[in-house]
Amino acid sequence: MDETLRRKILEISDILDKAAPPHIAFLEATDPFKLLISVILSAQTTDRQVNIVAQELFSTYPDPHALAKASIDDVKAIIKSTGYYNAKAKNIIGCAAALEARYEGVVPDTMEDLTTLPGVGRKTANCILGGIYGRPAIIVDTHFGRVVRRLGLVSSDDPTKIEHRIAALLPPERHYRFSMTVNWFGRIRCHAKAPECGTCMLAHVCPWEGKTTAVS
Ligand code: SF4
Repeated sequence: MDETLRRKILEISDILDKAAPPHIAFLEATDPFKLLISVILSAQTTDRQVNIVAQELFSTYPDPHALAKASIDDVKAIIKSTGYYNAKAKNIIGCAAALEARYEGVVPDTMEDLTTLPGVGRKTANCILGGIYGRPAIIVDTHFGRVVRRLGLVSSDDPTKIEHRIAALLPPERHYRFSMTVNWFGRIRCHAKAPECGTCMLAHVCPWEGKTTAVS
């Protein structure tokens, strides 16, 4: 069974790799600190909104030292439009303070260290490990989970189980690119509502009973 799934996920990985843009980035931040804070802010909102807010946030607080000393009310005012701003303000200031206190202002490069930071779970840590440090990383967000379930690669709803299952099926060197291409595909084609199955390049390997159009 796993061999069949391994062949299937490799085929899907190849198809998406060819179809997707060579470089995929949803958040504009590229330095480790700014990307980390942007990913924390991206919970329950759009990347577009985060990119807008990030401009003011990082022009005021460009590094962990500055953000660690920020007034929480000032930070809340800047990030309010991203939602859950009370918790997010507390987390990003706490995260900056922890980077200062424990890592000399440098974003760590292990899952163990990253997930000790306020507001950082496995998804956020994997964004940093894959996007900044070039490590194998399966990033399970809402798009990724939906697409791999529909494709019959996993049955679980649990992000950590999905991450481990996909990681076990795919060679590590494909992990990060697969994460990004599946995410891209979930946004442009395999939408939560009204997926575009009629023009889908994966329809022939998709067993989802909710497929909207039969494809030969
Ligand atoms: Fe998603 Fe439809 Fe393609 Fe299946 S056929 S992967 S549900 S867009």
